[in-house]
Formats: sequence, structure tokens, C-alpha cells
Amino acid sequence: MASAAAAGDGAAVGNEHSDGGRENNPETSTTPPRGSSTEHKPVCLIVLGMAGSGKTTFVQRLTAYLHTKKNQPYVINLDPAVHEVPFPANIDIRDTVNYKEVMKQYGLGPNGGIVTSLNLFATRFDQVMKFIEKKQHNHQFVLIDTPGQIEVFTWSASGTIITEALASTFPCVVMYVMDTSRSVNPVTFMSNMLYACSILYKTKLPFIVVMNKTDIIDHRFAVEWMQDFEVFQDALNQETSYVSNLTRSMSLVLDEFYTNLRVVGVSAVTGSGLDELFVQVADAAKEYETEYRPEYERLHRELADAQSRKQQEQLERLRRDMGEVSMETGVKTGVPDLLGPSDLILTRGNPDEEEEEEMDSDTDDIDHQVTEESKEGVAFGNFLNERKQLVQERNMKSQ
Ligand code: GDP
Ligand code: MG
Repeated sequence: MASAAAAGDGAAVGNEHSDGGRENNPETSTTPPRGSSTEHKPVCLIVLGMAGSGKTTFVQRLTAYLHTKKNQPYVINLDPAVHEVPFPANIDIRDTVNYKEVMKQYGLGPNGGIVTSLNLFATRFDQVMKFIEKKQHNHQFVLIDTPGQIEVFTWSASGTIITEALASTFPCVVMYVMDTSRSVNPVTFMSNMLYACSILYKTKLPFIVVMNKTDIIDHRFAVEWMQDFEVFQDALNQETSYVSNLTRSMSLVLDEFYTNLRVVGVSAVTGSGLDELFVQVADAAKEYETEYRPEYERLHRELADAQSRKQQEQLERLRRDMGEVSMETGVKTGVPDLLGPSDLILTRGNPDEEEEEEMDSDTDDIDHQVTEESKEGVAFGNFLNERKQLVQERNMKSQ
């Protein structure tokens, strides 16, 4: 109910939020230099991190910081389950997918509800891309807050679809937020770093480790651990708990990962460290242009037609499947529903629904490493249909 009530709060998709940065014309603006780019595209900052690491607070702080610089960001909330979004979101997943309703309709628990909601949203991410593209000249940054549980985004088809759609068009930087105060134990610290490492290798995008909560503890100890292997080994030696050889060897593996890794200490609560952060962001955006984009374009050429067509087909099938499944409560009467989830998505506050299709070309080309995700997409469609049937049968029986 909370999320349904939040809809229409002025944060709906495509809502002509006056904050839209119209005053922030890049031609006349005196705001900090653009992170990249020859093409005047905003830099997307994808904020990832463990639950409770401070992602949402960090996005809130970044938004406030950029506002004071007269450099309004375009802000997207992708967490369907958040109670309150503490920043003005230009696009809010909760306006288009009601996660509690999804749970009810498909008989899912909270985690399933969140994953399903994000999947539903991802099928229409091309529309989100159009909104961003339309506003791209008004903003230097797009901030993206992700679901509390990191794996919902990083290890799901939808997270991949969204990330690749963004990265195919805009410079993207992954901001990996970690709770520094909870990483003072060397084993915990290393686990967190291994997770960061796995995301880096999965997305291959420029990466910044944001050591958050430095108002609680200075992050220098962690930087030292990363710079000096022996200091870290000493810390491990002082561990009273059993530390296996594997842990020690893993820390050696990480040494490679630490080289060239950007690390910034910030406090999302006090706002400290943000000037330094934006220096790193500019550098990371440059890396996107010099390393990610050429590689992406090369892959794109190589894999072009066959794979991207296949992926598009899969995505269409997923949409079709989900279009047949309703989110309406009409199931109880056995009356077929007119609306499927895909009809419910992104319909609110969307002034451009009938807009020309010609902008599609770039954003539809999510093409590499898609096979697994595509299979997952089809499986997801089947899964939804099965769940739906189950709920229907259950409802029939209880009548
Ligand atoms: P998320 O799950 O990653 O989005 O985390 P939240 O932004 O919801 O933050 C989780 C908790 O950490 C909240 O209680 C925040 O107030 C707190 N928090 C976030 N950033 C900071 C910070 O920089 N310093 C301190 N002391 N607390 C923080
Ligand atoms: Mg959050």
C-alpha cells in the first residue's frame, strides 16, 4: 500500500519535473567540467552495494551536493521496496510497478516480489532510455539507486539488461558503496572486496570503491590494507578466529584487483569527500570513453546482427508472455483481465507514449553475453505464468 500510495507523488515516469535542469543549459552553465565527453552525454553513476551500506543516503547526498553546484542530476530509483525515497526522483520504479501487488498476484515472498518487479521494469527500460536521452542535454549526471539487496541487481537478468542498455549509450561508472565501519575485520573487508571484484569483472565498467560512513571511522586503515600486502597479512595474523589458507591466498589474488582501483572515502551523512569523489568520477568517465566504449563497439561490430536480433526476440517474447499475465485482481472471478503487467508499466505521467520509434536503434542493442540472460528471461516468463496459474487455482479452491 505504501508503494501504491507513493505513485503520483510527482515523481512519476516522464513527469515534467521542473527541476529538470532547464536552467542548467550546458552552453551557459558554470558548473564543474563534464565527466567525459565529446558528445555531451550525461555520465550515469550506477550505485551498488550491500544492504545498509548507505546507497540511498549516498544518492540523496550526491543529489544535494550537485544541486548546490547548480548541476541538477537526473535521478532514478530502482528499488521497488523502499518505503520512502529521500530525494526527488525523476523516475521511480514504484510509480510503475507495485511490488506488494506483484507479491500478491504471483504468490511470492518479499525477495521474489522485488526480483519480479525489477524484471517487469527491465522489459520496458527502453522507455526509460528515451526519457534520459530526451533530457541528456540538461544534465551532466544521471544517478541510479538500486535495490537494497545487491544481488537483486548484480546477479539478475534485469540488472544486466539495465546496465548494458545504459552503458551502450551513456558513459557509465559503477559506484560500489561499502560500509567502512563494518569492514574493520580483515576477513569481512576481504569478502566485501571480493564482491566488488566480481562486479567489476561482470560489468567491466569503470569502477569506484566508495568507502562510506567515514564519519564513524577513517577509511585510511582500509587503503593501507590495499596498498601494503604485509600490513594486511599482519591484520589477518591478529585474527583470533580461524583464517584458512584460502583466505590468505585470496588476499593475494586481490592484490591485482587493487592496482589502479579508485578508492574514495566519503560520508553520505556529512557530505565529506565529495569533491574528491567527483575528481575520480571525471577520471572514470574518461576511462569509459577510452577503454569501455572502443571495446564495446568492437564487440558490437563482431557480434552485431545475429546475437542482438536473438536477444531482441527473447525480450519481445518475455514481454509477450508477461503481457498475458495480469496484475489485476480479476483472477478471483476467473474473468480474463484486460491489463497485463506490461500495460501497467510506465503508463503513468508519460507524455510521450506515442513517440516516434526512431530513437530505438542504440538502446535496443544489448547484445553481448546475452545468452544466459535471454534464457533466464524466457524462463522467467514461464515462471510467471506458472505462478499465476497456481494462484488462480488456489483462489478457485478457496471460493
Ligand atoms: P542502502 O540499503 O544501501 O540504501 O542504505 P541506506 O542509505 O538506507 O542506509 C542504511 C543506514 O546507514 C541508514 O541508517 C543510514 O542513516 C546509515 N548511513 C548511510 N550513510 C551513512 C554515513 O555516511 N554515515 C553514517 N554514520 N551512517 C550512514
Ligand atoms: Mg536503499
